[in-house]
Amino acid sequence: MRIVLLGAPGSGKGTQSQWLVGRFHIPQVSTGDLLRAAVANGTALGLKAKEAMAAGRLVDDQIVLGMIRERLAEPDVGQGFILDGFPRNLTQARALDQLLAQIGQPLDAVVQLNVDYGELSQRIAGRRTCSDCGRVVNLLTAPQALAAERCPRTGQPHRLFQRPDDNQATVAERLRVYEAQTQPLVEYYRQQSLLRSIDAEGEVAEVSARLEQVLAR
Ligand code: ADP
Repeated sequence: MRIVLLGAPGSGKGTQSQWLVGRFHIPQVSTGDLLRAAVANGTALGLKAKEAMAAGRLVDDQIVLGMIRERLAEPDVGQGFILDGFPRNLTQARALDQLLAQIGQPLDAVVQLNVDYGELSQRIAGRRTCSDCGRVVNLLTAPQALAAERCPRTGQPHRLFQRPDDNQATVAERLRVYEAQTQPLVEYYRQQSLLRSIDAEGEVAEVSARLEQVLAR
């Protein structure tokens, strides 16, 4: 199965991707994660991407497309993949169509995750990541469960940090960029009859169940 998850920052693409990985045994391809890894490793690509990411703008299409081309050439995507955070504008969507046509692996579905603007801002404000296991959690919705949980890597409580682009000013810009550049993809994929939309508010497991339902269609 080849899936794109489409949704604003904080809509749960990463969380639901993780669920899909377990459910369908296909890899998650997150351009945000790939870019953050490049920044952390201080590669030439990371250095170019860093400034745009910190400001909440999109990283240059050529950089992102090069990264995706490389990633989709790896053997583990042969059985399918979940694209999380890509494509993010029309140029990227068209390039993806071309690339997938070349390798004879067209998309099966594009799922739009719908969450209210106010809820998005709240979710992002509470979002933390464990520096050891990479698990993403929300301080606002599950503080008690979280305090009781141990990191599977260290056996200690999670060591949580906030993504540097999850600050108020950058988040406002990311939401604006989403509206202006990514939202048009909804229509693009609707016209290709690939679009499925779900309500992505509520419990994580409820959203996963809705996702499974629309993918079974
Ligand atoms: P979110 O979806 O919560 O904004 P991501 O982890 O997907 O977070 O992306 C973080 C940042 O990485 C974006 O704000 C942007 O700067 C950059 N980025 C990620 N994916 C892309 C992409 N497909 N094209 C351009 N920039 C991207």
